[in-house]
Amino acid sequence: MSVGARILVAEDNEVLQRLVKRSFEREGYIVMQATSAAEMTSELAKATPDLIVLDVGLPDADGRDLLSKLKKDPKTAAIPVIVWSGRDAESDRRIALDLGAEDYVEKGPASELVRKIERLLLRLRMQA
Ligand code: CA
Repeated sequence: MSVGARILVAEDNEVLQRLVKRSFEREGYIVMQATSAAEMTSELAKATPDLIVLDVGLPDADGRDLLSKLKKDPKTAAIPVIVWSGRDAESDRRIALDLGAEDYVEKGPASELVRKIERLLLRLRMQA
């Protein structure tokens, strides 16, 4: 993944959205924001991101349904997805990875969350 990569952040918490956006933009990424599944769909129609950060608890969709839909649609199947969850549950992690997510990150304190995401981005960048 190169600098200038486009990241779609689907998260309905505006504080987290702002934190992640700031952190990603500092790294040179272009951030697309969605606060619902409906918004995510319309953002995806505008541009194809290089990575999706998907909150499992969006107000208008079940995160698992949304993830399996993304992975079944030929237009979005190849986009890496990092599932972002408020729960630290091994079962949720397994479900997310089984459905095709590249990774699963639990939400913690904001600073910790940003560090985790930065590490994940770095790893994805090194794999590319
Ligand atoms: Ca949420």
